[in-house]
Amino acid sequence: MDEPASGDVAPEPAFLLRRPRGRGDFVLLCDHASNHVPTALDRLGLPPSALARHIALDIGAGEITEILSEMLDAPAIFSATSRLVIDCNRHPGAADLIPESSDGTPIPGNRGLSAAARTGRIERWFTPYHDAVERILTARAAQDRQPPTVLSIHSMAATMAGRRRPWQIALSSHHDRRLAEPMLAALRRPGDVEVGDNQPYDLDPAVDFTIPYHAMRRDWPYLQVEFRQDEVADPAGRKNWARRFAAALSEALGRPILC
Ligand SMILES: [Zn+2]
Repeated sequence: MDEPASGDVAPEPAFLLRRPRGRGDFVLLCDHASNHVPTALDRLGLPPSALARHIALDIGAGEITEILSEMLDAPAIFSATSRLVIDCNRHPGAADLIPESSDGTPIPGNRGLSAAARTGRIERWFTPYHDAVERILTARAAQDRQPPTVLSIHSMAATMAGRRRPWQIALSSHHDRRLAEPMLAALRRPGDVEVGDNQPYDLDPAVDFTIPYHAMRRDWPYLQVEFRQDEVADPAGRKNWARRFAAALSEALGRPILC
């Protein structure tokens, strides 16, 4: 089916940009920050309760990205659209770019989309977000300084397929161990948390889009980070984890980074 045009209603942004001129050594990306479904898509046929779940957004990820952006004086780009509308961490041709079901929940508004509707979603919600990331990274590359480290911030459900995940935080690095090794060591050193190393998610360039496209392609340092959702569900947890993560970055890089 084709989709209705949004008409002359207030424009809904595809992304949010914070601290575009931040001077820190990092650029923060948050693909799954929002559970917003554009008005014209009528909640994709889902009840509000479904849009509050992890299938619609990475719970806590946007908030912890904002805290880190302030702590690190880092530009941060957030997708402003639910991953159920379009998953900004999938390749434009991927079948699950616009999922017809997610974690067992059928998504009625994504069933039987026409090619034109698919293209329309890519152009309206996916491309502007990634273009904004490119503008920030290109500007940084033009400056006479070291390339920034790209941090893709996500959160993971505490249980998946009935099994509890043991890791409070997980780093996905694929084969690039430059930042992964010292970060794993720094996060594990206190001895009180389990840190996932390429689990539960490896960073697969054939599946993931954001880090491969924006960071691997440039050979810039990066990490994809998953905070477990029960650890970052409230403000105190998010603040604690942001501090802990930033302190580990400082230790891993061997220099102070906090602003
Ligand atoms: Zn995510």
